[in-house]
Amino acid sequence: MTAQPQAAAALAGCRPVPYWLDRPDAPQAMPALAEGTRAGLAVIGGGFTGLWTALLARERDPAADIVLLEGKTAGWAASGRNGGFCSASLTHGLANGIARFPAEIATLVRLGQANLDEIGSTVDACGIDCGFERTGEMAVATAPWQLAGLAEDAAAARKHGEDVVLLDAAAVRDELDSPTYLGGTWRTRSCAMLDPARLAWGLRRACAESGVRIYENTPVREIADAGPAGLRLTTPHGSVHAARVALGTGCFLPLLRRLRHYLVPAYDYALVTEPLSGPQLGSIGWRNRQGVADAANQFHYYRLTGDNRILWGGYDAVYYNGGRIRPEQDQSPETFAMLAEHFFEAFPQLAGLRFTHAWGGVIDTCSRFCAFYCLAYGKRLAYAAGYTGLGVGATRFGANVILDLLGGEPTERTSLQMVRTKPLPFPPEPLRSGVIQMTRASIAKADRNEGRRDIWLRTLDRLGLGFDS
Ligand SMILES: Cc1cc2nc3c(=O)[nH]c(=O)nc-3n(C[C@H](O)[C@H](O)[C@H](O)COP(=O)(O)OP(=O)(O)OC[C@H]3O[C@@H](n4cnc5c(N)ncnc54)[C@H](O)[C@@H]3O)c2cc1C
Repeated sequence: MTAQPQAAAALAGCRPVPYWLDRPDAPQAMPALAEGTRAGLAVIGGGFTGLWTALLARERDPAADIVLLEGKTAGWAASGRNGGFCSASLTHGLANGIARFPAEIATLVRLGQANLDEIGSTVDACGIDCGFERTGEMAVATAPWQLAGLAEDAAAARKHGEDVVLLDAAAVRDELDSPTYLGGTWRTRSCAMLDPARLAWGLRRACAESGVRIYENTPVREIADAGPAGLRLTTPHGSVHAARVALGTGCFLPLLRRLRHYLVPAYDYALVTEPLSGPQLGSIGWRNRQGVADAANQFHYYRLTGDNRILWGGYDAVYYNGGRIRPEQDQSPETFAMLAEHFFEAFPQLAGLRFTHAWGGVIDTCSRFCAFYCLAYGKRLAYAAGYTGLGVGATRFGANVILDLLGGEPTERTSLQMVRTKPLPFPPEPLRSGVIQMTRASIAKADRNEGRRDIWLRTLDRLGLGFDS
């Protein structure tokens, strides 16, 4: 069987919904806001940014009056449909952090490791059954030009105190057996695998049990200054007067106009297989269950689920011209076919395995690839956005920054250059679409040309600009 019919057969009958959200025990929606109310803190958005902000605000002040307003249901968006790689990195990887914040990278690494430890502690303390496994993450080379980069990255990681092992082809294939592997690295501690929807649902439960008032199917339509009362948030059936507001709305139509300059929606797609049988799992190894990503610019990420399915995603970060977010863009049959073909190239031993789920989601991409933070409305509103595909762990750090900023007292976090500066803005449309599509084409070309970056990518690198997932 050639790759294409094999991929088509494996995808036949796939459910077009995120695997993680397709659960019989998914929680019922909480009631929508139906009348006017007041709050000390209103959190807008029930993804990880919003949920962590509400929970950490409760930890900081047990008496605080907190409401959380979610336009649909908590965790339905990026937070409940991602790869579930919960990384310690706050900077979209160490190399990006070193390039952008060389003077404070040691601090950022330390704060990131502490953040990951604290996520693990909250998961335990709140009894959140989200399959949190601190397996670490492997990066694998599938072309010779990637090996030097991996060795450099391992040296940098070691210098910054990370537990990293450099693996030759035999050693990496002993961990996970793909004939495409030429070598790899394994950061053994700095990433956990988890079930993102169950983390979102668990955080939502912990918030509700601690007295946070959660309203779902409650989109905030407008934010307005309400004088001494703080800010007024308008929703379809009632307004909230809040002294302070935390904005964690990801990439969706920003309530704060200025965010439009800094954020673009990049679509990322993933597949999940049926559970592997014992012999199928035996044919690839993977006894240490690490998350894996390959080392190309267009990279796949993959991992085992709790019931031994393989989640296989990434490669193609798609920007739809005009930057619209539309439900129909969650499905991309061409991308799914390509991902399925790549899967069987990586694991020919698994011929005959079928995919059960195929979906996409929106990543809030900014030009520096890691989140930015700001205050607005006379320091009564704070936001964090722009995690660019590595927000599962970093959103908790972002939530702490939001609360520090609203608290008004300087902290180690708010003194960071990463927190005090913003990315360069994207140009307006239609130039934005042209620039992003040209960048995507150049990135694909670099992978075909042994990693060599063309003049366009080198110019963007010099300016500190880029497009990534
Ligand atoms: C396919 C995919 C794979 C990914 N894989 C990984 C991974 O493996 N590891 C990793 O670290 N990151 C990954 N990411 C990125 C990660 O999921 C995000 O960085 C993170 O979930 C962002 O969380 P958030 O709360 O900021 O945004 P979101 O999860 O997008 O949540 C925003 C919420 O705000 C709500 N909202 C928006 N506007 C309003 C409004 N006006 N009123 C009320 N509510 C509103 C939305 O309904 C939504 O629920 C992936 C993303 C995708 C799409």
